Amino acid sequence: MPVVQSVRIGEHPDYTRFVMELSDQVEFNLTTLADPYRVVVDFPELGWQLPKGFNPRMYGALSGFRYGLFKTGVSRIVLDAKSPVQIKNTMMLAPRGQVKNWRFVMDLVPTSRANFMAMMKPAEYPTPASVSAAAAPNVQGNVEQARVPVMTPPKKPNKSSKHIVVLDAGHGGVDPGASGVSGSYEKHITLAIARELRDKLERTGRYKVVMTRDRDVFIPLRERTAIARRAGADLFISLHADTFKDRGVRGASVYTLSERASDKEAQALADRENKADLIAGFDLTSTSDDLSFILLDMAQRDTKNQSSRFAETLVKDLSTSSKVLRNPHRFAGFAVLKAPDVPAVLIELGFLSNKYDERALRSKSHRTKLAETIKTSINRYFNRIEEANRS
Ligand SMILES: [Zn+2]
Repeated sequence: MPVVQSVRIGEHPDYTRFVMELSDQVEFNLTTLADPYRVVVDFPELGWQLPKGFNPRMYGALSGFRYGLFKTGVSRIVLDAKSPVQIKNTMMLAPRGQVKNWRFVMDLVPTSRANFMAMMKPAEYPTPASVSAAAAPNVQGNVEQARVPVMTPPKKPNKSSKHIVVLDAGHGGVDPGASGVSGSYEKHITLAIARELRDKLERTGRYKVVMTRDRDVFIPLRERTAIARRAGADLFISLHADTFKDRGVRGASVYTLSERASDKEAQALADRENKADLIAGFDLTSTSDDLSFILLDMAQRDTKNQSSRFAETLVKDLSTSSKVLRNPHRFAGFAVLKAPDVPAVLIELGFLSNKYDERALRSKSHRTKLAETIKTSINRYFNRIEEANRS
């Protein structure tokens, strides 16, 4: 696998140059996306030898850089721009003289919005067939019709006696999620806890656990809910650890889906989480807007009640074992919680903007404790369901 050795951005009088040094020559594919302006370059799967928390110095219109696995076989870099840019040149330069590596070079020049929009290439749409079929707008662009397949119930797999729990490690790959005060990435913390929780749940013999991801890879939000529905999930748990502008704020909190947010912090959090696809340079223009609310039928109401019941159990258990936020059960319109027939919660395990929370989340012992607590809540939730089914 070709390995990325370094990345740098250089400022020149009339262009900004992006340079990535690689151990080998690679093919690349360019895309640009608007609102916000982004330049996206896809490569075959790459290894990365960049320092932890790496961020190159930005010049010109550029304001951000992310990298990581976009999907199996595709590594991606995303460059954010404050204003429209045009790709002037791209080159793959062979090693020469002192330079022992291959170099991918891309020059960007400022341009007008009109020009940017005109040059925009449609991004590929990488979700599996079942999801893109549901997401594809029909010819008339009739949004209601386009949504219908999302609402049709998935074929429930033959149910064993085991409860099916889907664990969703937030973010991944080219979407690192929040970064902590000491440079840790949310995507790594969520995956570590998801794995720990999976192992604990499987050891009980009561659960079949499905992970939305088990490696450092980007998964679109819609695909996360689709995985839960295809698995016939009895419970969906999305794991996160975000940041807050007030670094003093710490503690875990639990979120369930609601049209109206419980408070403005919950709203802001949902807004941030719902941007994950955007951050990864995933083109949303070809998907219908399922962020607005669809049929609130009986099934969905029941799902919401179950989600709340689990959230309450979780909040109770979390507050006895670790720090929780004030009003720890909150509501907002998280896209990842929108499967109409799967009880779902999103857990904010703590704030990476708080040094105590971050330190705790980076420690194995605290993660084990958190996973143990969540497991206890899951047990209690299903105990109750089993009792109800017996009576
Ligand atoms: Zn998150």
